[in-house]
Amino acid sequence: MSEKTAKHFKKGENLITEGEMGETAFIIESGRVEVLMNRNGKEVRVGTRGVGSLLGEMAMLDTQPRTATVRALEDCKVLEISHKSFTKRVSNADPILKMVLHVILTRYRDLLSRSNFSANMPHFSNDPRAEDIELSNEAHDIAVSTLKTSDALKKAIERDELELFYQPIIDVQNNKIAGFEALMRWIHPEKGIISPGIFIPVAEDSGLIVEMSRWALDVACKDIQKLQVAINDKVKSDTPAFLSVNFSVHDFSDGSFSDHVCDTLAINNTYPEQIKLEITESLLMEQPEVAKDALEKCRQQGIRVAIDDFGTGYSSLSYLHFFPIDTLKIDQSFIRSMLKQKNSYALVKSIVGLAKNLGMNIIAEGIETPEEAAAIKQLDCEMCQGFWFARPMPLKEAIAFCENWEYPEIPESSKISG
Ligand code: C2E
Ligand code: CA
Ligand code: CA
Repeated sequence: MSEKTAKHFKKGENLITEGEMGETAFIIESGRVEVLMNRNGKEVRVGTRGVGSLLGEMAMLDTQPRTATVRALEDCKVLEISHKSFTKRVSNADPILKMVLHVILTRYRDLLSRSNFSANMPHFSNDPRAEDIELSNEAHDIAVSTLKTSDALKKAIERDELELFYQPIIDVQNNKIAGFEALMRWIHPEKGIISPGIFIPVAEDSGLIVEMSRWALDVACKDIQKLQVAINDKVKSDTPAFLSVNFSVHDFSDGSFSDHVCDTLAINNTYPEQIKLEITESLLMEQPEVAKDALEKCRQQGIRVAIDDFGTGYSSLSYLHFFPIDTLKIDQSFIRSMLKQKNSYALVKSIVGLAKNLGMNIIAEGIETPEEAAAIKQLDCEMCQGFWFARPMPLKEAIAFCENWEYPEIPESSKISG
């Protein structure tokens, strides 16, 4: 491994020398060392370390002079971790974690420079390499903005600034509205509509998502009744329309997911077939047993489960047997390329075939053009969702959409190039 290089030190040799610049940390593989600090010109032993100990860890966070000497008490073999490789890892870390790490380091340095032990140590705050340890302005800003967004989101929930928008899902074989997907929006008093792409990740990181999902399910149960009335006013149908609600992995973590879902439906007098749970492949794979258990309980009550963004998350198809899945949603990236690339077209065709063979429903996401709708319809795919039919909209507009429903004219055939 490039970032961990084995190195040997003879008994009495210094691994690290106080006051010298350091750019590596060590993990002891064999042997023992002593840790010494300079006190009033005298070296004082402050401890010993053995196999498995991490030494010189400060060098992973900055490139300041060493604060202690580490000397081999016997022949030692160590693994070396460079400042550069660690910095690379830290740069990908959560911004708040990064900020906390930086603050701890700065305070520790401060403490050391004020302590007796380091009285003789060089004053390193003017060291040009100290710039290296500074949390960049950008990293600092990201950490602060994440915290601010999470704080603002908390207030948004209290102030009822969240709203569900609804995007219709069209049954293209029977020319009717099959259902809707509920998509969350944050209606900010100054900034206007904020997209879930911005606040859902923050909600997931801060744990707020659980409360938000529960709120969404409750609202969806109430709104599907209103949408159903509007649909019935226009066309009588034997099968009720469904409302899909999105869930995150955090929603499953406390073990009460299925009870909560069933209770919410019962309180709102919602039929199980009126609600569909939308879950991504990656979510299922994160905690498969927990997710399976929760989804099976929901399924036993008649609630259906859709796999969102199908084809983008997990490469093995074996999970389709493992989980109680009713619907596959083909990700929009496949739809986008299906009329340009023969391979993508073949892939979509195979997914439709796969779903049919497994007795599952299929929804094609992200239909933006009549050509895409035509191609999908021709492949015998049952349902479509996309901007060409309608964008996600507030409840009032979604009700009007149902009341004014006219099946759009989908061309008979499509030209597949590529
Ligand atoms: P998603 O679940 O895959 O939702 C579909 C996204 O595709 C929506 O974006 C929708 O507006 C967009 N879309 C629909 N048709 C088209 C089309 O024809 N073309 C294009 N380019 N896009 C189309 P939106 O509403 O911005 O949501 C983004 C993501 O945020 C969702 O992706 C979902 O992962 C997440 N999300 C939204 N609402 C919720 C929620 O209530 N709970 C959770 N956990 N996640 C949510
Ligand atoms: Ca979805
Ligand atoms: Ca999707």
